[in-house]
Amino acid sequence: MKNCLEVNIRRKIFPGADVAAVEGLMLSALPGEFVAIVGPSGAGKSTLLNLVAGLDREMDGDIQVDGQPLHADGLMRVRLGFVFQEPRLMPWLTVIDNLMLVLENSTDSVERVRHLLREVGLSDIEQSFPNQLSGGMQRRVSLVRAFVMRPELLLMDEPFLSLDAPTAARLRLLLLTLWGELHPTVLFVTHQLREALALADRVLFLSSSPGRVVLEVPVQLPRPRELGDASIGELHDRLLVQYPELLSGLVEEEKQQSASEIPDSDNRLPSSR
Ligand code: ADP
Ligand code: MG
Repeated sequence: MKNCLEVNIRRKIFPGADVAAVEGLMLSALPGEFVAIVGPSGAGKSTLLNLVAGLDREMDGDIQVDGQPLHADGLMRVRLGFVFQEPRLMPWLTVIDNLMLVLENSTDSVERVRHLLREVGLSDIEQSFPNQLSGGMQRRVSLVRAFVMRPELLLMDEPFLSLDAPTAARLRLLLLTLWGELHPTVLFVTHQLREALALADRVLFLSSSPGRVVLEVPVQLPRPRELGDASIGELHDRLLVQYPELLSGLVEEEKQQSASEIPDSDNRLPSSR
């Protein structure tokens, strides 16, 4: 994306709801910037991404690129990739056919799809069906699918939730490799503060419902970064001390999440680079 993304959601209220899901939420992202958005459950993170993607258009607000509406006349002004919390692959299609489906709307070639599959260590399963794959493998396919679009804007909604720690770590590395090739602008939603710090150029914190940005933290640590790095741990702990009330909801959820991680017996991941 050549230009800045500007999001200004004055108010988003779901039909029948008493309170707004998002109110007074403003954010911007530079071209190629990796922005992480953290906030407790129900803060409006998914609502925000759906609005940016144009999947939901009912709101009072503006989403612009270069001062022009991002969505106009049913069209989007940039190429969009969206990685959802669940891989959402078509169960009746093989891996390669799931990707070909996206390729129909892209200028990319089958060669590049195969190249991406090789890069994520999946070339030998292109004829498999999603239900034959582990959770971690399905998520790798959904990552590849987002990059087949050569996205200029990549939206990710808690894409590595409930994966075991090593699988999630490799997928993060993979994401950064793919991001490094095309440099899409990224909005990455998570409620894990460490994950946000490990990935992003800048972390935005949402208040609890109705969500708005209440804190912004640039992360200037060199990449690659791992969740367990001492520098990430220090920044994480410093933020918790500095903003205890703001982050208390997050810490609780992080604890719950690690307790509920599902081990993924996926030993075919490419080795970390
Ligand atoms: P998050 O992704 O941060 O957990 P969501 O964006 O899913 O939060 O939800 C924000 C708020 O909007 C919540 O209070 C949720 O109950 C409400 N909400 C989300 N989707 C809908 C919907 N389709 N209809 C009514 N309320 C919704
Ligand atoms: Mg959500």
